[in-house]
Amino acid sequence: MIEDLYQDIILDHNRNPRNFGPLAQANRSARGYNPLCGDKVEVQLQVDGDRITAVGFQGSGCAISTASASMMTQKLTGATIDEAESMFARFHDLLTEGDAGEAQEDDEELGELEVFAGVRRFPMRVKCATLAWHALRAALSDQGEEGPVKTEA
Ligand code: ZN
Repeated sequence: MIEDLYQDIILDHNRNPRNFGPLAQANRSARGYNPLCGDKVEVQLQVDGDRITAVGFQGSGCAISTASASMMTQKLTGATIDEAESMFARFHDLLTEGDAGEAQEDDEELGELEVFAGVRRFPMRVKCATLAWHALRAALSDQGEEGPVKTEA
């Protein structure tokens, strides 16, 4: 059911995205584009050593892509790069494991990100939900400005 997809927390983050706007002290960034939906996002990071001290994003997209980016910035602010990579993997699994992966929904590390579990039933939307995360990953391996990353769900 579509109601499963648009839970209140997703709608809230879409209306009031957190950490939205240019990040003054950014030293890493990457852009992502999801041609299937038209979502565009730029993720900016302030990385200090192996720790992500600030995360911001800009762009425009559907509710799922915006909420996912917003919640990602909250989740990863203060995380180490290793933790961010681990979270990316967990989030990706949550969205792509299919019904066989129900156990993933009890993943405590994901916390509120579990609301995106409903997205896995809407394959077109998986790319929306993972767009900012792919951009994040590109930013972490950032070697300067490059073309936008394409999502591979
Ligand atoms: Zn979208």
